[in-house]
Amino acid sequence: MPTHTAVNIFWFRRDFRLTDNTGLFYALKDELPVLPIFIFDPQILSKLEEKTDARVSFIHGTLLGLKKQLEDHGSSLYILYASPEAAFSRLTTEYDIKAVYTNRDYEPYANERDTAVRTLLTEKGIGFYSFKDQVIFEKEEILNDTGGVYKVFTPYKNKWLAKWRSLQLEEFSITPSSSNFHKTKPYPVPSLQEIGFANSSIIIPPSTFDESVIAAYDKNRDFPAIEGTSRLGVHLRHGTISVRAAVRKAAALNQTWLNELIWREFYQMILYNFPHVVHNAFKPQYDLIPWRNDEEQFQKWCEGMTGYPIVDAGMRELNTTGYMHNRVRMVVASFLTKHLLIDWRWGEAWFASKLLDFELASNNGGWQWAAGTGTDAQPYFRVFNPESQTDKFDKDKEYIRRWVPEYDSKNYIKPIVEHKFARQRAIDTYKAALK
Ligand code: FAD
Repeated sequence: MPTHTAVNIFWFRRDFRLTDNTGLFYALKDELPVLPIFIFDPQILSKLEEKTDARVSFIHGTLLGLKKQLEDHGSSLYILYASPEAAFSRLTTEYDIKAVYTNRDYEPYANERDTAVRTLLTEKGIGFYSFKDQVIFEKEEILNDTGGVYKVFTPYKNKWLAKWRSLQLEEFSITPSSSNFHKTKPYPVPSLQEIGFANSSIIIPPSTFDESVIAAYDKNRDFPAIEGTSRLGVHLRHGTISVRAAVRKAAALNQTWLNELIWREFYQMILYNFPHVVHNAFKPQYDLIPWRNDEEQFQKWCEGMTGYPIVDAGMRELNTTGYMHNRVRMVVASFLTKHLLIDWRWGEAWFASKLLDFELASNNGGWQWAAGTGTDAQPYFRVFNPESQTDKFDKDKEYIRRWVPEYDSKNYIKPIVEHKFARQRAIDTYKAALK
């Protein structure tokens, strides 16, 4: 029987880059050659209803780019389409694997998956080493003075900043020419069709830091008609940029932008420490709210046909581009949960199916904030008024006209619910439920 090549594996998940990649850096420092892999997991893919899902095309295209970079160094990327356990069982029949290196993912499904893979590997005497890479501080690294986990953003942020200032952020600048990649012929790649998908026409914004946008972020970020935000969400989500690079840019250019990156970590920390938020309100008494859940109104909201121009513009932007401006995300989420009294989980699921930058932690945090059910939430008696939000943030209706071209015509639909009535109904409903 031929002896198998001895390797360590580096398992890419949401860290699609060769430089400044913690787990890959440590894998390459080890003695054995590194075989890079990626696994298309049918359990994740089967949940995606849209077969032209732009996130899948983006991941597929990004993997081809990584594979090319690795091939320039005489290596390749082994892309499997199987459950992670089946994939590793197969790999152990093809290679003599000493250890698997990877970066940590804090979502509940990822934790379960990693526990199962670790168990399988341990039974075979193979090491499993995971590293912090997608955040600056993880899990319980930022604690309050009594050793507890923060539930409110501002003191968390202050502690985060103090700790970060005392650190020298390492950059794991491996040179991809590192001789330590496993030398191999190029592996075949499963096509998008083979994994059940087709190409999307949605355009992914570039992964470059636009310094002029970041520098003026605090002034421009609330106006959806202008390009005032970085559009880097999809890249932070998939690791096509490093969070350490982003934080360094933020610290140099704009404190407000840094705060947003800290919100991202806050919600990751909340999800990790309070996984019940995936299915329930962070504050349990909010699970008592009797949502109306009118399916027809939900459909109108999804389609951007509510008769509230700023809401409709946001929903149409989302459905067309996979993106919605943050200010508008807050308005449409408030509208769904307060004006229509529809369960925040319905809106969360719609966003999850559409957003290029979909991130369980931030999406859940954003929805619970808007519904008033979460950490640090918007108090329930404050109900966003879509009209005054428009007056403040889109006063010339430029954003609205871009997405609702019939806005000035007679064809534009009438509001599906009256603002004053809906506002009072929301306040009364919340108040009664929270007594
Ligand atoms: P910028 O404004 O340039 O900010 C830079 C980065 O900081 C973002 O890319 C993101 O990684 C992070 N960030 C910014 N604002 C927030 C925030 N409030 N909470 C957490 N992280 C933040 N963000 C996601 O990344 N994924 C989601 O699924 C998501 N769902 C949301 C749902 C709702 C209801 C709301 C109100 C907000 C949601 N956000 C989500 C937060 C925010 O809207 C987006 O991060 C932002 O609009 C992305 O645009 P950008 O890349 O130009 O970010």
